[in-house]
Amino acid sequence: TQALTPTPALTPTHCPYCSLQCGMNLSAGKDGGVEVVERTEFPVNRGALCGKGRTAPALLSSRVRLTEPLVRRPATGELEPATWEEALDRIAEGLTRTRTEHGPDACGVFGGGGLTNEKAYALGKFARVVLGTSQIDYNGRFCMSSAAAAGNKAFGLDRGLPFPMEDIPRTGCLILVGSNLAETMPPALRYLTELKENGGKLIVIDPRRTRTAEQADLYLAPRPGTDLALALGMLHLVVAEGRTDEEFIRERTTGWEDARAAAMAHWPEFVERITGVSVPELREAVRMFCDAESSMVLTARGPEQQSKGTDTVGAWINLCLATGRAGRPLSGYGCLTGQGNGQGGREHGQKADQLPGYRKLDDPEARRHVAEVWGVDPDSLPGPGRSAYELLDALGRDVRSLLLMGSNPVVSAPRAAHVEERLRSLDFLAVADVVLSETAALADVVLPVTQWAEETGTMTNLEGRVLLRRQALTPPPGVRSDLVVMNELASRLGVEKGFPTDPEEVFEELRRASAGGPADYSGIDYGRLAREQGVFWPCPATDGPPADRALDESSLADSSLADSSPADSALEDSEDAALDVSPDDPAGDAGSPQGTDAHPGTPRLFLDRFATPDGRARFVPVTHRPLAEEPDAEYPVLLTTGRVVSQYQSGAQTRRVDELNSAAPGPFVEMHPRLAERLGAAEGDAVTVVSRRGTAVAPARITTAIRPDTVFMPFHWPGEGRANTLTNPALDPTSRMPEFKACAVRLELAPAA
Ligand code: SF4
Repeated sequence: TQALTPTPALTPTHCPYCSLQCGMNLSAGKDGGVEVVERTEFPVNRGALCGKGRTAPALLSSRVRLTEPLVRRPATGELEPATWEEALDRIAEGLTRTRTEHGPDACGVFGGGGLTNEKAYALGKFARVVLGTSQIDYNGRFCMSSAAAAGNKAFGLDRGLPFPMEDIPRTGCLILVGSNLAETMPPALRYLTELKENGGKLIVIDPRRTRTAEQADLYLAPRPGTDLALALGMLHLVVAEGRTDEEFIRERTTGWEDARAAAMAHWPEFVERITGVSVPELREAVRMFCDAESSMVLTARGPEQQSKGTDTVGAWINLCLATGRAGRPLSGYGCLTGQGNGQGGREHGQKADQLPGYRKLDDPEARRHVAEVWGVDPDSLPGPGRSAYELLDALGRDVRSLLLMGSNPVVSAPRAAHVEERLRSLDFLAVADVVLSETAALADVVLPVTQWAEETGTMTNLEGRVLLRRQALTPPPGVRSDLVVMNELASRLGVEKGFPTDPEEVFEELRRASAGGPADYSGIDYGRLAREQGVFWPCPATDGPPADRALDESSLADSSLADSSPADSALEDSEDAALDVSPDDPAGDAGSPQGTDAHPGTPRLFLDRFATPDGRARFVPVTHRPLAEEPDAEYPVLLTTGRVVSQYQSGAQTRRVDELNSAAPGPFVEMHPRLAERLGAAEGDAVTVVSRRGTAVAPARITTAIRPDTVFMPFHWPGEGRANTLTNPALDPTSRMPEFKACAVRLELAPAA
């Protein structure tokens, strides 16, 4: 086990996993390890944690974590221990050779939505300044990119939730589309309980009757991939029944006529045939949504991970706009992001088409601003590159070497066997990770990096709340931060300056790079984050852009990390005030929580105007279209994929935690009894699932809680039960999101072992 740093008190920090970013305290445990202690003052989870958060320290002292670099030896073909010097030299040589022989765009960089804001920022800068490559993207492309694209189109800005989680229980009607938050973020279930206690209505839309759906007042089970039609059918009824908000449409939106015409072409009976949701159910959903004084729609991966994900989310946004349920207190559209830094990870430049501050890479003014902060010529910055799947698909062909941080695409990418083959075909692969993931096992060099509790950094949760995750432990010898890795590699590749290893110094630069951009962090600093329970962006500096100054006067040392409780509680009071919606201050943003002139942050967006040039939200006309791969005689069943409560993403971390592994030891194929009967399968029988991309085998789990035309597999495992062997990489034309959520398969009973 690792020794705790000698901080006398609890260290307040955040869970390493999902986008809720639950608050927790870390303390020295009795056994010399690390103990999680309740942190009730953090408002998002108020002390509650799921099993993943509760057991998060297990990996810190795990025997299976990496504590020394590994290099693949030509003599044996095996990964073997090496010094840091050798490992870093090998990476620099590999990247240099590729760049020399094939040009900078032959070097690829792949990041992750779990990286801190500082690392995501540094990685984007490393790719563009040190390698000069356009070929950088990250696994968040597989997470919320469709919601981001739709939000940008409609509102001119994408922030997962445009309001704090605290608003959810106070709305009148909540539609949850394709979100099983009872399993993906269990502490959030209390928001649904409180909503119902307050008299609000809950509508859940999901092909599976999940534990979340069990809470619903109205549960709708559409065929996978048809929620776009469902939203259009509801909008048709809203118009037909005279439930539109004409004043809101007139005053605060543009483009209604085209969107209205598109919706009116989707008759409820037509929608019933497409979705399997009956016309009376549609009418009831419209009645509940429109009868409430305020309403919200929240989407998650269900509607987003489709080849028409952007349009699907757009259809739900149109419903909100037509009924005046956006840009008003306790109403609106939001996306429940997935990964821990799914929000911040997409704001600071590791996305193929973006620069820090959520600026567009092809915007000349954005390039000029960021290039000035970076001290480079704007013309030297590459243009937009390939999206995540397209980048993985190009490996070994146009892209010959890859540096990968914080991601495990061998398990998490669609058409995973093909992606694995592409990774194997690279001239050179370097992976930085905390464990030997399935992707790291293919690498030429593996670097062991620090874990969440071993370094300080910021994360931005699903509300757009920027948080400080604080160091509580000294990392084991042999392990280094990703920031140190980038600094060392930059230096070996000829860039001596610009890659600090101190996270606070990186954040100060990020503040300047983001200043004036859509995701403006310039008014946020570490000292403030240590005192407050997070700050919502945009938060511009009120005293001008942050200077490129020495940092010793605004450091964490001043914020009394070792004993932050008095400041925490003072700021907790002021944050509660900032979150309180009152008629006089509907945005909850009047005055500074610190009683100074500092900008208070922006818990609620769009209440006065949307972030478009004219301040109006834009309707986007959308129409139903079929799946990229509809079932047919050869592949007659639909496969949908998702998560289980005790595993996280590719499982690289959670599969290595004994308690979680015991609770969820492997994949399964969930199917309806009627489908099982046709197949002749009993509970636990090995079922072979075949798609056009490959085959997976897992035991049958038989339940009436799923549609008879659909099977479900969780995607956390590698090997023969790998669900992503089957999934379809057909991409959304705007967001470049693959169609994880629905593809055609056939089922066979696997021969007895
Ligand atoms: Fe909270 Fe998510 Fe961590 Fe569970 S995994 S404790 S829901 S942040």
